[in-house]
Amino acid sequence: MNKKQKNNLIRIIVASAATIALHFIPVTGVVQFVLYMAVYMLIGYDILRKALLGIKNRQPMDESLLMAIATLGAIVLALYQQSGDYVEAIAVMLFYQIGEWFQGYAVGKSRRSISDLMDICPDYANIQGENGQLEQVDPDDVEIGSIIVVQPGEKIPIDGVVTDGTSSLDTAALTGESVPRDVQAGDEVISGCINLSGLIHIRTTKEFGESTASKVLELIEDASSRKSKSENFITKFARIYTPAVVYSALTLAIIPPVIILLMGGGMSFGTWIYRALTFLVISCPCALVVSIPLSFFAGVGAASRQGVLVKGSNYLEILSETKTVVFDKTGTLTKGVFEVTAIHPAKLDAQELLHLAAHVERYSTHPIANSIRLAYPNEADDCSVENVEEIAGHGITATVNGQHIAVGNGKLMDKVGADWHDCHSHVGTVLHVAIEGVYEGHIVISDVIKPHSAQALKELKRSGVGKTVMLTGDAKKVADHVAAELKVDEVYSELLPQDKVAKVEELLEKKASEKDVLAFVGDGINDAPVLSRADIGIAMGAMGSDAAIEAADVVLMDDDPLKISTAIAISRKCLRIVKENIYFAIGIKLLCLALGAVGIANMWVAIFADVGVMVLAVLNAIRCMFIKGIKPVESH
Ligand code: ADP
Ligand code: MG
Repeated sequence: MNKKQKNNLIRIIVASAATIALHFIPVTGVVQFVLYMAVYMLIGYDILRKALLGIKNRQPMDESLLMAIATLGAIVLALYQQSGDYVEAIAVMLFYQIGEWFQGYAVGKSRRSISDLMDICPDYANIQGENGQLEQVDPDDVEIGSIIVVQPGEKIPIDGVVTDGTSSLDTAALTGESVPRDVQAGDEVISGCINLSGLIHIRTTKEFGESTASKVLELIEDASSRKSKSENFITKFARIYTPAVVYSALTLAIIPPVIILLMGGGMSFGTWIYRALTFLVISCPCALVVSIPLSFFAGVGAASRQGVLVKGSNYLEILSETKTVVFDKTGTLTKGVFEVTAIHPAKLDAQELLHLAAHVERYSTHPIANSIRLAYPNEADDCSVENVEEIAGHGITATVNGQHIAVGNGKLMDKVGADWHDCHSHVGTVLHVAIEGVYEGHIVISDVIKPHSAQALKELKRSGVGKTVMLTGDAKKVADHVAAELKVDEVYSELLPQDKVAKVEELLEKKASEKDVLAFVGDGINDAPVLSRADIGIAMGAMGSDAAIEAADVVLMDDDPLKISTAIAISRKCLRIVKENIYFAIGIKLLCLALGAVGIANMWVAIFADVGVMVLAVLNAIRCMFIKGIKPVESH
């Protein structure tokens, strides 16, 4: 709670107590009026001011004006009828303020969980100076490949690889994961994590502006500008609806009593003005205007607390209609960390074959390349590697010591005219190697399914996703094996990146209805175009490429597929709460208007219909903040 909220809370309590006290104090006339007005001003001065400012800026039709007219009208009426009943006016303001207070509280709370994410950017980096002393420099000035030092308690400013030291990192702000992650030399680390225990040296692999923390910040700043359809609808609705209510109330206050007067029925202005004021309060749209954006905001906040970055509330709305989820395999359902399981050379020595492959993979960022370099760590010897060409979905070719080498799948071997054959003994991703178009054997590598993948697919099914599909550029044997293990409904293998786009377009065509949503989940290595083609693109954030984070609508900060189910669950619940509020608010208002039309509804009914409903709707919207993520089931 901030200071303003604390003050408002005190104001609400004092005004309530004073109103109750005044009820029991036997004063009348001017003294009574002055005392009640003091309480009225205490609780309502800011709303009156907003209404006045609205009139001054020629944009008067908002809830503040409705509240101001209704309450001032009620006071004038009480004076005119000498009833001394000022409590209604105070009550309208009081409940309105209570609703506003809850809303402010919820917004503050969600903003904090979003700004926990904002807090990830440190504003300096430590560099070891000439004399061995640490110097703080602007992280923008740190070049790629520099060594930075991160002390315990500091945030990692730039993405990189640990070169020295061990420590554990707190990644909670980025991933929602509370268990610290242990790192040692050779591990990749991302900016925004807090170094908890040991001093570590990091060789930076990105510039500050391209590092995870900076990227995430940019995304958050954009997120607030994208509004959902429901929110846009409410803004437009209120713009037409509010003036309509004011003019209807005016008509109600004037026409019927004039007609009655003309027909000789006598003066009835007091009654009709009271009815008009009641009507005004009942029809005020604040329950919707306040609670709907709040629900989305709270939902985005809840998601970010779970390590799911939703780039705008419109995506929360789309996500809730997800019927088909399409996955990329490598790096999404599997870890993308391959281990060499067999080397089958034709005539070369096994190490020699691995050596060649590692050279060819020298500059690639593909998970396969990273794994091969790990398997042959002394790759950077004095061999010359030139003309490297990465052919997406095929593999890589390069000139090593003057010889043309191709490393990749069967398609690549066909391309270079090598006479290749599949591995007879091992199941896995097969990297074939050819020198000058002559087949030299293959290396079998295998990837591991992520620990939560199977559960993620199960949860998706349970939450109403009709179809799951896996797309991969990998060989059919491997793809089918993974798909069977995870119980994916459909699997398509040996796809080139453009085939993936085509497949997704085909699946989009096959949708049962326009409204059904197809989500694609990928790491962006060879699939960024698909991410933007799907109705909604979900990217693996930590490991995924920058292109993926850019192209995606939702980013999973810790690459855990289970977070997809979490994101969908949050969006569904959020939309359900929004709908509950719409039906509830409109229903109660219609009911009260009907009561008002037959003259049963007094101001107290109106207060419930408007501000009572608003308070309830806001409390309901606050539930969006506390939506829990899906817990992993520990496998034994
Ligand atoms: P996925 O769809 O599973 O993410 P990709 O489209 O990234 O896979 O790659 C498809 C296939 O292309 C890989 O299984 C591999 O056979 C080949 N390939 C891609 N990049 C490389 C590389 N750097 N080195 C060797 N082979 C590669
Ligand atoms: Mg991939």
